[in-house]
Amino acid sequence: MREIQADAIVVGAGPAGLGCAAGLLESGWRVRIVDEQPAAGGQLLRGASAGAPASAWGRALLDAGASGGAVLMSETTVFGMTSDGELAAVGPDGPCLLHASAVVLATGSQERPVPVPGWTLPGAVSVGALQALMKGAGVVPDVPYVMVGAGPLLLLTAAQLHDAGAPPLAVISTMARGDLLARFPALAGLVADPALALQGTALLAGLARRRIRVFGLNSKIGVRILGQSRVEGVEIVQDGRARSIEASLVALHDGVVPNLHLAASLGFPLHWSDASRCFLPERRSITHASGVEIHVVGDAAGIRGGLNAMRAGRRLATRLCGRSGRPAPFEDHGLRVRIARACLDKVFAPTVGLTMATPETVVCRCEGTPLGDILASLDEGAATLAEVKTATRCGMGVCQGRQCALSVCELLVRRGRVPSPTRTSAPAKPLDLHRLADFAKETHETNPFDG
Ligand SMILES: Cc1cc2nc3c(=O)[nH]c(=O)nc-3n(C[C@H](O)[C@H](O)[C@H](O)COP(=O)(O)OP(=O)(O)OC[C@H]3O[C@@H](n4cnc5c(N)ncnc54)[C@H](O)[C@@H]3O)c2cc1C
Repeated sequence: MREIQADAIVVGAGPAGLGCAAGLLESGWRVRIVDEQPAAGGQLLRGASAGAPASAWGRALLDAGASGGAVLMSETTVFGMTSDGELAAVGPDGPCLLHASAVVLATGSQERPVPVPGWTLPGAVSVGALQALMKGAGVVPDVPYVMVGAGPLLLLTAAQLHDAGAPPLAVISTMARGDLLARFPALAGLVADPALALQGTALLAGLARRRIRVFGLNSKIGVRILGQSRVEGVEIVQDGRARSIEASLVALHDGVVPNLHLAASLGFPLHWSDASRCFLPERRSITHASGVEIHVVGDAAGIRGGLNAMRAGRRLATRLCGRSGRPAPFEDHGLRVRIARACLDKVFAPTVGLTMATPETVVCRCEGTPLGDILASLDEGAATLAEVKTATRCGMGVCQGRQCALSVCELLVRRGRVPSPTRTSAPAKPLDLHRLADFAKETHETNPFDG
């Protein structure tokens, strides 16, 4: 078994992880960064190492990571921690164990599930997947496609795909004018960060300039993806009238939430946030039973955007270095940005939820559990995620509820419950069985993980 020793292991090479690593390197720490992607950058700076466009701060961050001496272990997935406090990972060279007294989880975010009828058909994808293909591989849709949902990433990706020569047939906004007006006062907070406000205005103006058609702003709409064996189009119902658009691809989006699966499996306590409508870590740092200190930072600790993620990473580095007597000076200007970001969260609170799903709509993709079964279990008295899981198998598949848990939480909240998370265990991410078997063989243990 390959064993790697460092002062700090950073999981995630996005703005938060790179920001933290850069700060630690400046103070002479030996740092390893682990990321399952082929290159550093995370979601926001994906493809930037290979020359894709990036902001000035993003480019400087990538350069600092490259020149500062941090060793990036790419295409490597961290999937758990042994009872001795070693991070367990698998990469192109097989399994390995990483030892350090400080572990930083900068695992970013993931998109919310959007369970509308037809979302499991081939040809229904997430907006983030389209953007990742475009940024990472330069691949854009070569068939007619439609984008559905709400949130800045939806609008940004529509504009980016337009500029890459593959505009969508239409963008269907699931945020009704009523929602927008009710949330309008929250926009006032954007004065705290005029640059962010300008970016948003430019984005909206850019959509109009590019003549990208946005449907659905007048009133609440229903959306159904059409097709038997694959996507053939999308039906929009508004004010009792239905119209359909033929398309071979439908991209869905309803905002992003922290990616906390690894943190949860390593022992971070989580709580339900009504404001963010997702689980958040109760604390930013914990001490593992082995004595290893584990920290969570960036979007994984709460969605605040790339620049804030980078700053939070730098702040964490300052704290870690200060504690060990090796200070790393860094001036933080993040408060105004954080206020403005919180306003954005209010304005773009999730819109789709399960409002468009029918009883037949599959909610748990791993187990094929339809909404009707989950509603029936709630009617019969299930009051927690765990009870719904036991009654319906929803969340029992390989992804351990990564997608469906949030949908069940929405249903629990509607019934006046406060969701609590279910237990996540290693492997925190789905792994090929042979890779896990290699791991067990090389550690000579059947279960080297906690619990
Ligand atoms: C699909 C998607 C697209 C986005 N696109 C944009 C955009 O275009 N513009 C924008 O402003 N914001 C975008 N965001 C939001 C954005 O990600 C951030 O605000 C910013 O990148 C957060 O930085 P971060 O370092 O916290 O996380 P990220 O940039 O997400 O980086 C997290 C990194 O952790 C790695 N990782 C996660 N788990 C593991 C594991 N177990 N083992 C190894 N590596 C792991 C991931 O591969 C990833 O590289 C997007 C979010 C998502 C989910």
